Amino acid sequence: MFVPLTIKDHLERADLVYGDRIGILDEPDQPALPLEDMTYGEFALKAKAMAKGFEGLGVGQKSRVALVSHNASRMLTFLFGTTVWGRIGVPINFRLNQEEISYIIEHSGAEVLLVDPELEDDLKGIKVKHFISLGNESDEILYKAGEPSLWTPDEDATATINYTSGTTARPKGVEMTHRMLWTNAAIFGWQTGVSDRDVYLHTLPMFHCNGWGMPFALTAMGVPQVVLRKVDGNEILKRIEKHGVTLLCGAPAVVVAILDAAAEWDGPIPGAGKTRIVVAGAPPPTSIIERIETELNWEFIQIYGLTETAPLLTMSRGRSEWDELSTNKRAKLLGRAGAPAIGVSLKVAEDGEICARSNHVLKGYWNQPEATSEAIRDGWFHTGDGGYIDDDNYVTIADRKKDVIISGGENISSIEVEDVLFAHEQVTEVAVIGVPDEKWGETVKALVVVEGDILEEELIAFCREKLAHYKCPTTIEFRNELSRTATGKLQKYKLRAPYWDGHEKQVN
Ligand code: AMP
Repeated sequence: MFVPLTIKDHLERADLVYGDRIGILDEPDQPALPLEDMTYGEFALKAKAMAKGFEGLGVGQKSRVALVSHNASRMLTFLFGTTVWGRIGVPINFRLNQEEISYIIEHSGAEVLLVDPELEDDLKGIKVKHFISLGNESDEILYKAGEPSLWTPDEDATATINYTSGTTARPKGVEMTHRMLWTNAAIFGWQTGVSDRDVYLHTLPMFHCNGWGMPFALTAMGVPQVVLRKVDGNEILKRIEKHGVTLLCGAPAVVVAILDAAAEWDGPIPGAGKTRIVVAGAPPPTSIIERIETELNWEFIQIYGLTETAPLLTMSRGRSEWDELSTNKRAKLLGRAGAPAIGVSLKVAEDGEICARSNHVLKGYWNQPEATSEAIRDGWFHTGDGGYIDDDNYVTIADRKKDVIISGGENISSIEVEDVLFAHEQVTEVAVIGVPDEKWGETVKALVVVEGDILEEELIAFCREKLAHYKCPTTIEFRNELSRTATGKLQKYKLRAPYWDGHEKQVN
């Protein structure tokens, strides 16, 4: 029998099996009036009401509905309220500016843009058919009683488009099908041991690869989901204590914030002995992994993947064979990105690039067939990450082949920043590189050749006018020339080398 794998399954199961259980707890401290705590039955109704609301706006199936928001219950409703009734969700990074978001709206052809009220003033110039600021008033438009038209489930239909920065100046839209979301959620949930005894804290931004697909896995298993709007180490510990949180995800920068807060925490550390934290986005240093075990007594799990792979490619989780090892030895083993998740095949190409195959590798980049054939060649998805595979088949990410900087878990295209700097009339040459940073893993540095006099602050301010602030250089160095190949190409690896001296890996 063939039954299409769609996100409808996750919502239906939550409703059917956990209908009476409190499933969604909104962030109390937010500019909109928070939604009340919802049982999974109420949540399923809310998602359905949203689909009816879109219908009322004349937004049909296959239409794109975009949302830019900090984590919120309304955003969780959106993830299901769009996809389960055949619309396509486009969750957008809330740090992007008006121009960057306008590009995504135009490129995806979104008819609706749902906006966090905090961002409304900054974004109100965006041209879109329906611009709706989230809150009480919009709830009246978005949540309508009645039965929305049913969608005929199709596992190959696009469920979400997630824009991610890569090697091109503009971000590309990763088309995630229902099947991709389903298999990623099933495998992720399985391998991290998600069960109905868990309580989840949304420390990871939900826009980022749909919160790594966790919301789908959690909903299917009836896991209570506690929404956190902004990352703050102390607040995270407080919520863990208050709600009995057992599971959370984040980039290494989130872990550092938690460890800092734990050092100041009075009393036993919340979640000690029962919480697991899933970390990805950059390779966490061994010392951080050790501290999670010794200072928090939480379980550390690392995953590696990309938006293009939904994201789960590998997982590193302590195995019974490692139980008797010293904390340091175990941390070293866990510091590797991990072993392939079930259904994932990995290989290292001749030039050291990690290539992957699996059911949850992207269908394609939205309306960019050339970029798709560039990324998927000979049946393998090319990750742009460099690394190696040990004899026990665990993968280490040690290098980056693509010209991307990852700061605090978010991708930044070097070319995009270079384009902006080039637009300054005094800049004649520019190379943007990632350099190690204690807090963010990597930070953006620009090396420039200029005409006349200009200050570092002035150039940084120039970038901040045009780009989301997390993409802007934190330092700029003035050079007389930049190292190039005979054909005039910038030699980025040479320019990067002095800043990475003494580092075991070329990514951080
Ligand atoms: P994104 O598509 O924004 O989720 O970023 C994906 C990129 O993050 C990958 O291509 C890697 O460069 C990096 N990344 C993700 N997880 C890890 C990890 N565990 N170790 C090293 N790099 C990682």
